[in-house]
Parts: sequence; structure tokens; C-alpha cells
Amino acid sequence: MKLATLRDYNATLLQTAGFKDYAPNGVQVEGKSEVRRLATAVTASQQVLDEAIAWRADAIIVHHGYFWRNEDACIVGIKKRRIAQLLKHDVSLLAYHLPLDAHAELGNNAELGKLLGITEQARFGEQDIVSSGVLDAPMTLTQFAQQVESRLRRAPQVIGPADRLIRSIAWCSGGAQGYFEAAIAQGVDLYLTGEISEQNYHLSNETGVAFIAAGHHATERLGVQALGAHLAGKFELEHRFFDQDNPV
Ligand SMILES: [Zn+2]
Repeated sequence: MKLATLRDYNATLLQTAGFKDYAPNGVQVEGKSEVRRLATAVTASQQVLDEAIAWRADAIIVHHGYFWRNEDACIVGIKKRRIAQLLKHDVSLLAYHLPLDAHAELGNNAELGKLLGITEQARFGEQDIVSSGVLDAPMTLTQFAQQVESRLRRAPQVIGPADRLIRSIAWCSGGAQGYFEAAIAQGVDLYLTGEISEQNYHLSNETGVAFIAAGHHATERLGVQALGAHLAGKFELEHRFFDQDNPV
């Protein structure tokens, strides 16, 4: 398929124009105009580029691309090496950040809810980025933490009493620990996100609302894979997900 078709299709599917984001959504580095092999990954790291290029990908779609709002704009150091490699091999880099967290079916939060057995009932937070809902089967914090560990294949950091009954949950993939207070205001039993900060422990302790940090990478593997699978089903594309393990 044409790169331009892929770009336009994704823009409509993910409604990218409707988001205020920290990085550009869409084609960040332009490669060949024809795309047959599509690689997906969470982050456009050097290892991911190496593996995708060895597989002879024509385009790579990631959740974490380049050109973040507060970073140095100059193309030096690791940024130079990464971009030079993409240009040398004529491989495109497409990135989708908040639109890929928020998408109602393929998004990280939607996929995370499905995987963890939570039915979404509402959304809140800036640009409606946080989901909330109820567990299909209420269980204790320890039981739910075990479910998170087995389904995300990573041991989460768990704050709260082991026997606390968990029924309502708010969740947001990635580094969304800043929404913990907003989640508490929603009256949920538990807030789950990728990362935790020091003050989240005390907030949990003093409000009784449990907190699970399930891993930034682990909670953001789902959306980009779902998008890749969707695109491969829709167009003449071969798709492969490249998972560079990340302990954070
Ligand atoms: Zn992220």
C-alpha cells in the first residue's frame, strides 16, 4: 500500500487531529512510498530499529516516537544515529501517542481493560484519557494483582491492604500516576497505571484507595499490536510486533 494511504487512514481511525499531544502524531520520518512489511513496537529504540530493518520492514509504527515537546530539537547523539539509520534504509517511522492510548477499541486503555477483565463505564481526566469501570468478577487486591502479573507477564508494584475487595477500577496505561488524585475523586477502589511516584504511596495509604504500577512498557504493548493487526487485516500488509523488554 502507499505510505500516504496508511498515514491518512491512521489519521482518520485514531482521530489524531483532535488531540493536544507532547509529540507529533503521524509520519515522523518519511521513507519509501510503498509499504508491504509493517513493524510495530512500543518505543522506536535503536534495538527496535535494528530488528525491524533486519526483517526488511518498510515502515515502523510506534507509541513512543521522537521529537517530544521539551527535548532538545537538534539531531545529535542517539537521535542522529536513529534517524540516520531510518533514512539510510528508506524506512518510515510513524508514531501515535495519546490517540493510541485513547482509541475506543484498539487503544492501550481499551485493550488493557479487556485483558484484565474490566468493563469500561466512563472516562475522565484531561482529554478523557483515563478509563473507569468495574471488574467482571470482584476479588481481593492480592488476587487481582496475581491476575495482572499473569496477564501482563510482569510482577506489578502493589500498594494497599492485601484483602481489600476490588470492584471499581480506574486505569490509564503508561506514566499516568499524576491522575491518582482524580481517580480517588471518582470513588474507585483501585487505580492502575504503568508507573508510580513516591507520593502515590502516601496518598494510597491515607485514602484507602489501592494503587498498582503494572509497568509503563507492559501496559503499552497492547495498543500498537492491535493497530498493526487491524491494519494487516485491512490492507495488503505483513505485520510483526517487535517487543524489546523493558523493566520499567
Ligand atoms: Zn508511554
